[in-house]
Amino acid sequence: MIIAIDGPAGSGKSTIARMLAKRLDFRYLDTGAMYRALTWKAMQKGVNLEDENALCRLMDETTIEFQGKDKNLNVFVDGNNVTREIRLPAITNNIHYISNKPGVRQRMVKLQQKLAATGNTVAEGRDMGSVVFPNAERKFFLDADIEERAKRRYAEFKPSHKEVFYADVIKDIETRDMRDTTRNNSPLVKGSDAIYINTTKLTIEEVFNMMLKEIEAIIHK
Ligand code: C5P
Repeated sequence: MIIAIDGPAGSGKSTIARMLAKRLDFRYLDTGAMYRALTWKAMQKGVNLEDENALCRLMDETTIEFQGKDKNLNVFVDGNNVTREIRLPAITNNIHYISNKPGVRQRMVKLQQKLAATGNTVAEGRDMGSVVFPNAERKFFLDADIEERAKRRYAEFKPSHKEVFYADVIKDIETRDMRDTTRNNSPLVKGSDAIYINTTKLTIEEVFNMMLKEIEAIIHK
């Protein structure tokens, strides 16, 4: 069974996807981490981020893997644990070069489908319901007002990055929203078959319970 969760940055998808995977004992597939991982490697190797052929070749010779579970879920690139590094702003700011290349996306989609084929999966990203898992048993689209999403990101970053400012976080999210929703390849869209949840005024537990109820309804059907 595949549960597909899409939505913009800060909508609560990662937190909820992890919680659902834990409760249901499903695999958690963090597809954003995969785009982050390839961006990390391209930057390490000094690959021209505008060069689609070079990025496709890089993807072909790169191993992206997940190991562990829940809080100990780690992302590995060619055996290197990059879990922390791929969250750095330098990576976030450059992902769009990678994520708008159709050749790269094709390869990512294949890998994501392969990973999910190993068992029940909660998959989270931007194109889960629309492209990667069009036949997912349940599709959700999580959203929230931009101020709330920026507040959440700011609270997440502040303890470890003292130099972060709210004004910058909101600007970054605006830029990312614009890029993710307007790109030519697999833009972030809410499909008519997805359950839309605006999480602005809801607690994590409320969102979790709403989604769990929807999923359990199909499990018990
Ligand atoms: O979810 P996360 O914030 O880690 O995603 C980082 C970026 O990766 C997104 O802003 C988007 O550009 C890209 N992405 C994507 N398709 C996905 C997941 C992430 O294009 N399925």
